[in-house]
Order: sequence, then structure tokens, then C-alpha cells
Amino acid sequence: MLATMLVDLDHLLASPAYDPARCSIGFHPLHQWPAIVVYSLLLRIRPLRLVAIGLLTHMLLDGLDCLI
Ligand SMILES: [Zn+2]
Repeated sequence: MLATMLVDLDHLLASPAYDPARCSIGFHPLHQWPAIVVYSLLLRIRPLRLVAIGLLTHMLLDGLDCLI
């Protein structure tokens, strides 16, 4: 949960913090495809699995913004 909030801080670094028309994936440092690959690897580490699920859910929701 804490880690997912850190990813939200990533949004605050951008200006404006939230733009519905912008695709977050590939824009924010923690939203690059390499970062998503790292989150997928975290899924395999049992203690970090919940964090990874939170991060990937965040990426999924941000990714939906790209589709609309
Ligand atoms: Zn995001």
C-alpha cells in the first residue's frame, strides 16, 4: 500500500498532476515499461506480492486512461 502511494507521488511530480487526456504509461518515471516488468518480477517474491499487485493495479488503471 505504501509503495502504491509512492507511485502516486510520481503523478505529483508531473505538471499538471492529473490530466485525463494524458497517457500516464511511459510518461512518469515509475510508469515506464521496464518498471512494469520489475513489478511483474515482484509478484514472484511472496512478501512483496501484495505490493506488486497494488502497483500493477495502478498501472492497469492508468493504462485504461490511455485507451479511452
Ligand atoms: Zn499512475
